[in-house]
Amino acid sequence: MSGSGYVGRFAPSPTGRLHIGSLLAAVASWCDARHHGGQWLVRMEDLDPPREVPGAADDILRTLESFGFEWDGETVKQSLRHEKYEDALKFLQSSGMAFGCGCSRRDLQGAAVYPGTCRGGIPSGKQERLQRFLLGKGVESWNDLILGRLEFRREELGDFPILRADGFWAYQLAVVVDDRDQGITHVVRGSDLLDSTPRQLAIWKALQGDMGPEIPEYGHLPVLTNSLGQKLSKQTMARAVDASSACEQIDFVWRCLGQNAEDEAWRDLMKAGHAHDLLRRGAELWSRNRVPRQSIPLQGWAQEDAV
Ligand SMILES: [Zn+2]
Repeated sequence: MSGSGYVGRFAPSPTGRLHIGSLLAAVASWCDARHHGGQWLVRMEDLDPPREVPGAADDILRTLESFGFEWDGETVKQSLRHEKYEDALKFLQSSGMAFGCGCSRRDLQGAAVYPGTCRGGIPSGKQERLQRFLLGKGVESWNDLILGRLEFRREELGDFPILRADGFWAYQLAVVVDDRDQGITHVVRGSDLLDSTPRQLAIWKALQGDMGPEIPEYGHLPVLTNSLGQKLSKQTMARAVDASSACEQIDFVWRCLGQNAEDEAWRDLMKAGHAHDLLRRGAELWSRNRVPRQSIPLQGWAQEDAV
């Protein structure tokens, strides 16, 4: 246990192997946590079985280990926490912050955001298909650890699903319930999740009551993109990282993060090939202020670039 009170986390989905974009998020969240004397937890976000790849969760954990990461406590698996999400949904329903929706995709075709059709009840002739969070109107804002002051209008996001039509829990609800239960104080993650943050802040406030845990601080990292400007992800066929050159790949994302790669100790550890010691040096050197605010185009990291 650390005395700083900082609790960070890395939360991959087992939809494929760890790629360079997820390595960047892991390095940044690890260094930010350790730099501040904090804990760093790993949570497996395995709530979307249709998208999951058998064996990927173990593969990701083994890869993290071979890159020198060590985490605090047991790895939490979302798939074992359905009752917690059920409890949160019931609480939101009882406080009027969640409602059943009977709209199909076709019903909502052409609508940029959910128009609020079922807020006052499901129209006759329709069946409940999913549960939505009542976002309503107003502003969600926060001081991002990397991007500075950010603001989203609730009506531009619309009431969003928290229990999906296919019966699976939506990401937004599960993440907030887990972050609350795990005492997460700092969320450092990719900017591709930027518009999830105002939704999650709204859920936090709805679940919080007077005595709830404090809402975490959020910091959003630059996203790595391929030659087509698409975020490197499993969907865009990003190549998996390779543990045989762990230090080179850590050094690569370290530079992408704008950090000081010319430090003498850093260079020595690179040459020696000690991934864990390299990460530890990274935590000492880490500076949020150096992290770029723009996405970073890369060549050669997506399979399509290699073809
Ligand atoms: Zn509806």
